[in-house]
Amino acid sequence: MTNIVLFGKPGAGKGTQAEFLKEKYHLTHISTGDVFRYNLKNDTELGKQCKVFMDAGDLVPDELTTKMLLEEINKHPDTNGILFDGYPRTISQAQALDTFLASIGSQVAATVALEADDEILVARLLERGKTSGRIDDQDEEKIRNRYQEYNEKTAPLIGYYQAQNKFHAVNGIGTIQEITVRLSAVIDNL
Ligand code: AMP
Repeated sequence: MTNIVLFGKPGAGKGTQAEFLKEKYHLTHISTGDVFRYNLKNDTELGKQCKVFMDAGDLVPDELTTKMLLEEINKHPDTNGILFDGYPRTISQAQALDTFLASIGSQVAATVALEADDEILVARLLERGKTSGRIDDQDEEKIRNRYQEYNEKTAPLIGYYQAQNKFHAVNGIGTIQEITVRLSAVIDNL
């Protein structure tokens, strides 16, 4: 299995790039944000539990998130590899992922980060909020809170993956196609 973690701040383009990369490398795309939103929309038990966190732009607690993620992975026992989009977002999640993958004889092959300036990303999210229907994209205060969550809880993952020699960063500013080329250059070298 070639498991890739797509890393980056909210609005960096992870979801957009995942759509291309999953086709190109025949990977299973798991977006934790998408799974949570599906559950919110369908008012499931998980949806009820994660709503308050998502609406505020806070991270959903690790235990709930990791349980959901492992259930998603287990739906694809024959996959070629997983493209993780939006997970892990805390050190505890990264450790849980490493432990789980090791238990099935696999591992994270690489973490690829899409880098972009905060101000560009905030503007992008506010623009996306006009059409996405996402409450967390419509209010600048909630968006800023998501960046604070990122800086406090997610940014330490850079060091976590660097220590394993698995962290790669690409410039996330450019056309969709240019960025796909940059990401592919990293993946092709693995
Ligand atoms: P995203 O679509 O990746 O921006 O995620 C939207 C929201 O879902 C986040 O602001 C969090 O509330 C929640 N979420 C998604 N992935 C995670 C995760 N790995 N850990 C905690 N919360 C998450």
